[in-house]
Amino acid sequence: MAEVESKYAYAKKSAWDQFTEDQIEKSYHFAEEYKQFLAIVKTEREATQHIIKLASERGKQHYSNRNKEVAIVIPGTHHLSEGVRIVIAHIDSPRLDLKQRPLFEDTESHVALLETHYYGGIKKYHWVTIPLALHGVIVKKNGETLTINIGEKPGDPIFAVPDLLPHLSREIQDYKKLNEAIKGEHLDIVIGSKPIKGEFKEKIKAAILEKLHTDYGIVEEDFISAEIEAVPAFPPRDLGFDRSLIAAYGQDDRVCAFTALKAILDITEPIHHTAITLFVDKEEIGSEGNTTAQVTTFLRSILRSIDPTVDIDDIMLKSKVISADVNAAVTPNYNEVFELKNASSLGYGVVMSKYTGHGGKYSAHDATAEFVGEIRTMLNTAKIPWQTAELGKVDKGGGGTVAKYYSRLGMEVIDLGPAVLSMHSPYEVTSKADVYAAYLAYHRFLSGKT
Ligand code: MN
Ligand code: MN
Repeated sequence: MAEVESKYAYAKKSAWDQFTEDQIEKSYHFAEEYKQFLAIVKTEREATQHIIKLASERGKQHYSNRNKEVAIVIPGTHHLSEGVRIVIAHIDSPRLDLKQRPLFEDTESHVALLETHYYGGIKKYHWVTIPLALHGVIVKKNGETLTINIGEKPGDPIFAVPDLLPHLSREIQDYKKLNEAIKGEHLDIVIGSKPIKGEFKEKIKAAILEKLHTDYGIVEEDFISAEIEAVPAFPPRDLGFDRSLIAAYGQDDRVCAFTALKAILDITEPIHHTAITLFVDKEEIGSEGNTTAQVTTFLRSILRSIDPTVDIDDIMLKSKVISADVNAAVTPNYNEVFELKNASSLGYGVVMSKYTGHGGKYSAHDATAEFVGEIRTMLNTAKIPWQTAELGKVDKGGGGTVAKYYSRLGMEVIDLGPAVLSMHSPYEVTSKADVYAAYLAYHRFLSGKT
């Protein structure tokens, strides 16, 4: 006789099995728009600009802060003092930032390079010998802001961090620990090699400066008042024969930014509680700074602008928040770092993480069982595929999200977002089914259907 599982047992189910054929088709269709978004939005500034553009086109109320933080608001029929519903996602991703004095000529290898300072949790070996594009802004001496985007269009040049050939890397790299083999100071980007003619001290650097001045009207000092990010120049692609997966840079956390954006833009019916989507910066370096989740002056100013008479603490105590961020997908060949019952898998729906943190739940946000119950019921009622996970085995490592900063304000908060394979790499991977499930979940939550 075949053994069957108790009817009272819980097993996580594939999103592909739970979705109807129509929903699967919709998830593939949704992914096309998502990939287009990822192709043009590779920095927090570009995300902010894009979100403002779409919100304006759709006539949605929106607010922005220093070109790096943005919010969309849909007023509800209930008074603000009954609380708001927030979905918050971050729009920064790990990358290489240019230093303030980046440009130099290496007079021994005869190339010109840009010095970088890496941003966020990267594995440095991922960033050598891949095509890079430069995105950002330069504030010139006259105060004019120049926007930079080089390496994305067909025909654009790309840039790259060189690496040592295996024939010569034995002592310097091969016998070292992985995280010591490539040093932060070695992530300099090659940008040219052709010297200028004439009497110049460093002819390649001089030629680059000449070119930059001709093309952009900038001088070397202008780099000091600039924010330029080197990001992978790969376009988003389908991964796999079945095209079920998406490979692209910046999916942590722009997968949540895109799905949250679509979710709020697609709200057409009147809602009870005011819905807010917040897109914040600098999560990858601990949410430090004036455009981040940790500093709530922006949110407070939005709430005051909706109704100057309300008590903001009262609103917060009654508000509910989805911290829309990703979790780690169980990774082939490295299953041992996951406790598989409590780990997220590609294609098993949006991931609910009750808590984050490390060690004995240090630095965690730990959602209440009541709020977990509410979200679980919302997802089950709407037949939205979901799974539960924490980040890796106990004591293997860990991580955090913006959830804890919002819970400190007194709000109910939970982490909910897709699983990502190869997270924090230049080519992160998500499942089309999970991306679509995240969109459905945020839409339902912001609509107030819990
Ligand atoms: Mn994240
Ligand atoms: Mn991250």
